Parts: sequence; C-alpha cells; structure tokens
Amino acid sequence: MATQPEVGVSDFVLLDNLTTDKFIENLHLRFQHNKIYTYIGEVLVSVNPYKTLDIYNAQHMAEYRGREMFEVPPHVYAVADACQRVLRQQGRDTCVLISGESGAGKTEASKFIMKYIAANTTQVHREYIDRVKNVLIQSNSILETFGNAKTNRNDNSSRFGKYMDIHFDYKGDPVGGHISNYLLEKSRVVSLQPGERNFHAFYQLLSTNNAYTKKYGLSSSEVYKILGSERGSAQDSKLFSVTNSAFNALGFSASVVEDIWSIVAGVILLGELTFSESGEGEMTIGGPLRSCVSALGVSETGVREVFAGRVLAAGGELVSKRHSLSDANYTRLALAKAAYDRLFSWIVQEINKFIEAPKGTYKSTLIGVLDIYGFEIFETNSFEQFCINYCNEKLQQLFIELVLKQEQEEYAREGIQWTPVQYFNNRVICELVDAPHQGIIAIMDEACLNPTKISDTQLLEAMDKRLSGHKHYTSRQLSPTDKKLKHRVDFRITHYAGDVTYEITGFMDKNKDSLWQDLKRLLHSSSNRSLSNMWPEGATNIQKTSKRPPSAATLFRNSMAALVTGLQSKEPFYVRCVKPNPVQAPNAWDEQLVRHQVAYLGLVENVRVRRAGFASRQRYDRFLQRYKMLSQYTWPNFRGSGARDAVMVLLRDLHLTDVQFGHTKLFIRSAQTLHGLEEARAAL
Ligand code: ATP
Ligand code: MG
Repeated sequence: MATQPEVGVSDFVLLDNLTTDKFIENLHLRFQHNKIYTYIGEVLVSVNPYKTLDIYNAQHMAEYRGREMFEVPPHVYAVADACQRVLRQQGRDTCVLISGESGAGKTEASKFIMKYIAANTTQVHREYIDRVKNVLIQSNSILETFGNAKTNRNDNSSRFGKYMDIHFDYKGDPVGGHISNYLLEKSRVVSLQPGERNFHAFYQLLSTNNAYTKKYGLSSSEVYKILGSERGSAQDSKLFSVTNSAFNALGFSASVVEDIWSIVAGVILLGELTFSESGEGEMTIGGPLRSCVSALGVSETGVREVFAGRVLAAGGELVSKRHSLSDANYTRLALAKAAYDRLFSWIVQEINKFIEAPKGTYKSTLIGVLDIYGFEIFETNSFEQFCINYCNEKLQQLFIELVLKQEQEEYAREGIQWTPVQYFNNRVICELVDAPHQGIIAIMDEACLNPTKISDTQLLEAMDKRLSGHKHYTSRQLSPTDKKLKHRVDFRITHYAGDVTYEITGFMDKNKDSLWQDLKRLLHSSSNRSLSNMWPEGATNIQKTSKRPPSAATLFRNSMAALVTGLQSKEPFYVRCVKPNPVQAPNAWDEQLVRHQVAYLGLVENVRVRRAGFASRQRYDRFLQRYKMLSQYTWPNFRGSGARDAVMVLLRDLHLTDVQFGHTKLFIRSAQTLHGLEEARAAL
C-alpha cells in the first residue's frame, strides 16, 4: 500500500498532552482531510463524512486482508479483518459493538463490516458461500425498508435495534446467519413529528401505481393521513424494486410478498377510517372500509364489530362493552400499530429461516454485529426513548466492564505500575431502571398489574415516592422550582450521556402493550395466510387467555440482559461513531455537538486507560513456549527455574524494554514489539 502522509495522529494514544481539546483538534484535522477513522488502540473512532469517499472498493478490501491493525491506516475494514483473524486463528467468537447517536453512521459501518466479511472467504464451495453472502447482504435492504424512516436527525434512521450473528465453518467461511430485532418504534405508524416520515415501506408501496395500489384503490398521487405530508419519491420507487428483488433473492414466495404488501396497504387504509355518531347513537364508519378489509383479508362484519365494542371475559362470564367514538379510534390505531409491528418481527423471523445455516452444517464460530439505536434526547421523550436510552446505558456498562474496569483490575491484580483512571461507572443508572422491586420498570409493572386502573400520573407519584433521593432521578413534583421540568407529567433521568426529561403520559398504555383479544382473533381470521400465521394467539378461546403477558419494558429488559450475556462471552471490538453536525452536511463541523459526544462516549478516558495500557498480555509459560528459540539462554531449555525468570532473561537478551512483569503475566506495551518477536521467530 502506498504510504500516505500522516494527518495528525492515526491513534489517539500517540497524542502529546492528552486533553479533550487536543482530542477534538486531532479528530477535526483528520476529518478535514477525509480521514474519518482514527484508533484508540483497537477501538475505532469513526466520523460520518456525509459524502461518498472512495475508500471502500475491492482494492481497499484487499489492502486490509490479513494485515495487523497498526500496519495499515485506520479503517472499519481493519476491524472486520481483526475480527475474522481472531475467529480463524484462535477459534473464538467475536463481536463488533457499534455505538453513537442517531445519524452517526452505525448502520453504514455495520454494512461495511458485513461486506468485508462476505468478501473475505476461501475459494472452496464458492457457489454456496456466494449465496450465503448474498442473502446476508440482501436482508439489510428488507430490514431498512420496513424498519427505517426519515427522522429530523437522519434520513434513513433505524427505528429498531439489530443484532446479527454470522456463522462460520471451520475454514472461516460464512455458512449462515441469524438476526435478532429489538423494539420497533411502532408509535411512528400512527403519529409523526413534523418533518418526519413513516417507515419507508409505506412510501415505497405508494411510489408508483402498481398492482397493489390498483387492487386496494390507493393512488400514488394522494396524500394519506399516516404518511404525513410526504409522498413516495423517485428514490422510493427505485427502492421498491430493490426490496422486491431482495425478497425474491432470499426465497420469499410471490404469494408471501403479496401478503406482506397487502398488510402494508391495509395499515395505510386503517389510517383513513373515521368514526362518527348518527342521530340514534349509532356509530358510522367513514372512509375506505371496503378496501381496508380487502387488504387485510378480514370480514367487514368482523371489523365493524371490533370498532363497535369488545367482549371481555370477567369472572368466567363473557361481557360485551360498547365503544365510545374515542374507544373506536383507539382501537383503530392500536390495530394499525400492532399489525405493522408484528409484520416487522415476522419478516425478521422469515428472513432467519432463509439465512439460517442448513441443518447438519458444521457451525464453528461466529461474529456478532450490533447496530442498535443511539442515545436519544428529543423535545418530548416518551416510553420509546426511555427504553432506547436504557439500552445505551446497558451497552455503556458493558464497555466499562470490558474495556475500563477489567483492564484496570487486571493491572492491580498483577502488580503492574499504574495510575488509576477516573471514570463514571453508570451501573447506578442501570439499576435505577432495572433493579428488581425498586427500579422504574418494576414500579411500572406493579402499576400495570394493579386490578384498579392506574393513571400515568398515579404511576409518576408511585415512582416519586420510591425514587425520591436517588441521585439520578427527579421530577416536577420532587423539585418544583427546577426550570427544566416544566410540566406536572415530567420526570428526569440523569443518564451517563446527559439529562433527559421524559413525559410520563402514555407510559402505562405502552408498557401494558396489550391488544384486545377480539383484535387478535380478527387478525387470525384473515384470509391473508401470512397475517393469520402472525397471530396464532388469536386462535385461543377468549376465556382461556386470562394470563397477562409480560409488559413491554420487562420484555425489553430481558432481551437486553440476554444480549449482554451473549456479548460478554465474545471477544469484543468497538466502533464509536461520531456525528459531525446536526444538518447531515458534508464538511460541516459543529464543535459543541462533537464535544458532547466525545464526552459521553468516554473517548478521552478510553485513551487514558489505553495509554497506560498494554497491547498484549500473556502468561509466562505460554510466552516462553512460543519464543524461547530466540535466545541461547532459553533454547532448548532455561537452566534456571521458573517461567517468569526465563522470560526476564530472554527479554534482556533481546534488549526489549517496553514491557512490565506482572505476577503471572508479561505485559507488552506496543503491538510493534510483539510483531517484531513474531518476525524474528518466522525468520529462524
Ligand atoms: P440511526 O441511529 O438513526 O439509525 P445511524 O448511526 O445508523 O443512525 P447511518 O444511517 O449509518 O446512521 O448514517 C446516516 C447517513 O450518513 C447515511 O445514510 C449516509 O448517508 C451517511 N453516512 C454514514 N456513514 C457514512 C460513510 N462511511 N460514508 C459516507 N456516508 C456515510
Ligand atoms: Mg441506523
């Protein structure tokens, strides 16, 4: 590779006088020269360039293949390669954790990693491997169509969390994968912030007049309520074809694809229905009811019934309750949200069937790629932001555990000279949210289980009572003079990334997340086979379904716990994404915005730990075994006793000084030293 002049330093560890200012100066300087990647040791810091850079083609990939990270300029490909090397050479599972706020470039980074991994395969079984690579990459287009939307922060914002495992065989070739999805922001289906769009799928469907629009009486030139003021663009039309080819490439049958788009059409049409009361107190339904029931494959009578009232099982008796207009409206929106949300999860499940390694395939190792929503602070923050920000707390906790804490603990244990680095441990905030009995989720669940109906404000009162005095929690009630807590319904969590004020309104409902049994039965009764299969619980007898399913927050907490456990067992690599400006523009640098991210991502602390840190640590016996042939004093055998002494003699003979001797392990400061040892060994 042609050596390029260094711009600033390519590893923050090499900065003189480390301060936040110096850190940002280096990041900015590199950004101005299109050097968007910089290391902190093995952690990759990436700044979104908001423009196409010619650094990702096949030739670039080839330049990173099999090279140590310090040998080549920083790049997301280097991380992918390191991941694959650990997997091939040590047979260990690895994962890449990508973090950063909305629009920082997480999803793009995850796609580059997948492309690199897919390209880096051996030549045998080419055809089969090619299929696997193809479907893994195609699955992204489908996920983005159904799970991404334009927001005020990012034109292609992921509104769900994604964790993807790629399975490899013993040769290190990909043989399949598995995707887990987390909490889709389903409230978007029925309510949009000004300037934002609904999920791309809706606009794609309506970007042209096609078989579906014709069948369900939709038109590409109309504006539909749930889509805000936007219509499908030429870009949406292009992506509609891309999505359909991806369905096809993965193996979705034509009839299933038809089922899927019909549900999307059905949700748009649900958005158009209106309710009014006639003179005699009868409810009339306005809007395209016929097309709507046809798109959803359900009977018109069935739909009329669920809007008119509902049947409850109370003490073994069936009781019917008539709906008010606002109940009917609530039902309509709940139905739209639930149908779309379940559609999304179902598509992920189906994709998994297609990308799963076939039965009997030998799965040896895996690489996990986590692309999850970044920390969110909006004008109004609701239950969704609460969950998303909790997720970020958990991942920050994992980062602290793995990178900061364990590293420092090991130095202490091994008696290595070391100035401890101060960092904020966010465990206390995780516990504020998820502690059994005392955490916010537990308090919410308790309120949701209460047989008498608890309002959102009553929930807030319960939280205030139990959490008053907690350093990271406050509310309007607890500090009435706090100017930032404007409304009675406001509470604030001091997150590791900053203060977020949440509005309690809607928390109870969103946490219960219950869909009336009538609606489940209706969806299950659909002649749309896929829709019917998505709602198996609609087949159960109403009197038998008294057990309440776990709340949304509890499900989310459990899925986060499982995710973290899974990640802990793997060798982690980190990509920390930074957003350079809030306007999605190339070359613009908002110092304030960057400073905030550098602070909450803990990047400067990361450099401090790393600086005092060591590139490699190895047990003395293993080290001796590998390098003893490099000195006459240790080859073939050391005449003294003890591996530690032998290693000391060996290193003295080699004049290597950038090491420290721990109690049981040797710590080598730079990767270059290790590399030199490897070369010397190979040269013998
Ligand atoms: P969210 O949390 O909202 O999903 P994100 O961190 O996943 O955000 P991306 O969707 O990856 O953000 O990036 C936002 C946009 O920035 C992309 O659509 C693309 O236009 C641009 N972008 C990101 N990374 C790069 C890159 N490496 N090169 C060129 N453009 C990029
Ligand atoms: Mg994304």
